[in-house]
Amino acid sequence: MSNYRVQNPATGEIVETFPEATNAEIESTVTAAHSTYLTWKDTDIQERASVVRRAAEIFHERKDELSRTISVEMGKSYAESVDEVEFAADIIDYYGVHGPSLATDYQIPSTIPGTARIESLPVGALLGVMPWNFPYYQVARFAAPNLVLGNTIMLKHADICGRSALLIEEIFLAAGVPAGGYSHLFAGHDQIASVIADPRVQGVSLTGSERAGAIIGAQAGQNLKKAVLELGGIDPMVVLDADDVAAVAREAWEFRTYNAGQVCNSNKRLIVMDDIYDDFVAELVKLGTGLTPGDQLNLGEGEYVPLSSRAAAETVDAQVRKAVSEGARVLVGGELGEGPAAYYAPTVLVDVPRDSESYGEEIFGPVATVFKVSSDEEALELANDCALGLGGSVFSSDEGRADRVASRLEVGMTHVNTIAAEAAELPFGGVKRSGFGREMGPIGMGEFVNKRLHFIA
Ligand code: NDP
Repeated sequence: MSNYRVQNPATGEIVETFPEATNAEIESTVTAAHSTYLTWKDTDIQERASVVRRAAEIFHERKDELSRTISVEMGKSYAESVDEVEFAADIIDYYGVHGPSLATDYQIPSTIPGTARIESLPVGALLGVMPWNFPYYQVARFAAPNLVLGNTIMLKHADICGRSALLIEEIFLAAGVPAGGYSHLFAGHDQIASVIADPRVQGVSLTGSERAGAIIGAQAGQNLKKAVLELGGIDPMVVLDADDVAAVAREAWEFRTYNAGQVCNSNKRLIVMDDIYDDFVAELVKLGTGLTPGDQLNLGEGEYVPLSSRAAAETVDAQVRKAVSEGARVLVGGELGEGPAAYYAPTVLVDVPRDSESYGEEIFGPVATVFKVSSDEEALELANDCALGLGGSVFSSDEGRADRVASRLEVGMTHVNTIAAEAAELPFGGVKRSGFGREMGPIGMGEFVNKRLHFIA
């Protein structure tokens, strides 16, 4: 059976399957992406931008259908799906509106006689490899700026997102992207390796696991291709003090359980000062008590959604069990639902030993892991004791104190008194094993650009 299939994680029912592409189909997609690039790059940038703006409008017009599709594919609640569709549409619109001004040429002062101009030119056909956790948002932040720039896109989506992958392609084409300008690939991993190796392809952007990042990064390196890698995170949320401890705990819980915890920059490590630790944990436990599995398309009060697949839920369960075997304690949750559904109860985990294997593992599910510290320095040392470095946040009623600690976090995105700040214009990405390169904002828009020097003596 094809790997590309939609399976409702609330029931295990296989809803739809899609045949994998043949090698001949992959070849013709690459040919089309390259030949369309040759005309798309010479299309006026304002015209490209207006096509991208139209795509954003269609995202809004088809919001209900798009939202239902991803809720069935990967299990997020209908309300969160609507949030995602709207955010993806906003991102696409932002690059349709502001993209041209982010891609303008500029002059630099030259110390030798002459005029030096830096031009912003597209580079060619690009490959995107995207995950299932935010099926539209992840694609939007890669595709929209690059289409405005004049690059063309081939997109390999996660194997559980075949229907949303086709809808995205349909929308970009309906908006006016020429055939070959945006194409979905139902490709296998070997076929992806051949696309990366193809001389007509100029770069690859992957959002996904460290494992996939290491493979795709190596393939890109072997072929001397540019890669942007947005991988996982075990982001620290440091709580130094709080006027209202319960309110900060609620914010922590809400973010940690959003999208069933399957978010790369989720606050996966809650690092809390000892004098407020008990109250903080008590509030988390209260929030996690009495919850029951629900239907993601019609989620009721006190209900939680499934994870993206049974395998994902079993992985989280195995990770929590391992942590417990190494000395951690589950205070609430910690229950894997009956198969074939993919439910895992939102969980509070404490006392994970620093010297255990579990300490360094990313749990991609609704598990709030809490650590107790007794000084700002200890909080910082714990926060930075991590192989990954995506984002991090620091909370305190004394903003200066929070700011001082946040400024020493070894991550790509720091936040003070908020867990994350996400908007179409803000760059997103990490350091260490969280990958390299950025998406969105002027930095993201510059990743797949030929910043050509044009010098006139
Ligand atoms: P993967 O990294 O395996 O999948 C992400 C994307 O990469 C998918 O499109 C997948 O395709 C593709 N992919 C994976 N391996 C290859 C390969 N060798 N060649 C080409 N494409 C490849 O993530 P999983 O879905 O397996 O999730 C596992 C873990 O990854 C999670 O538990 C989490 O830690 C992390 N993750 C991080 C995300 C983030 O936002 N940073 C998002 C999703 C996952 P296919 O589906 O066909 O395998």
